[in-house]
Amino acid sequence: MPCESDGRILQGYFDGELDLVRSVEYEEHLKACPDCAAGLREQQVLRQSLRSSNLYARASEALSARIRTELPGAMVQPTVIPMRRRPALAWAALAAAIVIAIFLGTRVVPNIGGQRQKTLIAQEIVASHIRSLQPGHLFDVQSTDQHTVKPWFDGKLDFAPPVTDFANQGFPLVGGRLDYLDDRDVAALVYQRQKHLINVFIWPMESKPTKLPEIQAIQGYNLIFWWRDGMYFCAASDLSVAELRQLAKLLGQ
Ligand SMILES: [Zn+2]
Repeated sequence: MPCESDGRILQGYFDGELDLVRSVEYEEHLKACPDCAAGLREQQVLRQSLRSSNLYARASEALSARIRTELPGAMVQPTVIPMRRRPALAWAALAAAIVIAIFLGTRVVPNIGGQRQKTLIAQEIVASHIRSLQPGHLFDVQSTDQHTVKPWFDGKLDFAPPVTDFANQGFPLVGGRLDYLDDRDVAALVYQRQKHLINVFIWPMESKPTKLPEIQAIQGYNLIFWWRDGMYFCAASDLSVAELRQLAKLLGQ
């Protein structure tokens, strides 16, 4: 079967520009597509050889002199002289560097911090939700009995997620599994609403994050976040926000 993906997806993947969901999708594609796999290897070899070779050469005096005469007014050291002439620009560059440093600093904090961190986690959650819908990935323990699902988590997590079946309210519990989000193991409870599946991700968080409650829609999936009793919850599904909120309310939103 010829590959239908164009080179831009490969390039985006190689440059780390795809979001998490597309990366996961493309990794699946790579397993089945020898063309893309070969293309990726070529890129890796090219990058490696560019990194290991010395591509910088100092211009000879004669060449420098010729360029200077052919470009009237050209700066010999353009990175230094304009800075001196325009100190405001230098300060702006310094300020930007500090902002970037602070931004990178907050991004690696493993708790939910700013809006960007929330978006990253939301993308991780959507990727986990999509992965769980692939055959064989939904459950580690398949049961509609909360007394089976709850003890299954014992010893597998360093916290005890609340597990309740809401079949009478139209949201039967169908199972659970271990998942990985925000750099830690989390519980994922699986509920069903007619034909729709809902993942409820739960992990401990000591204090209530400042901006709550929150709803996010990513790639056709709705996410609802809330905090209760030292735990952070996220319900993810293709259900409407209104229906998803019913389950969130039952779970103590
Ligand atoms: Zn391909």
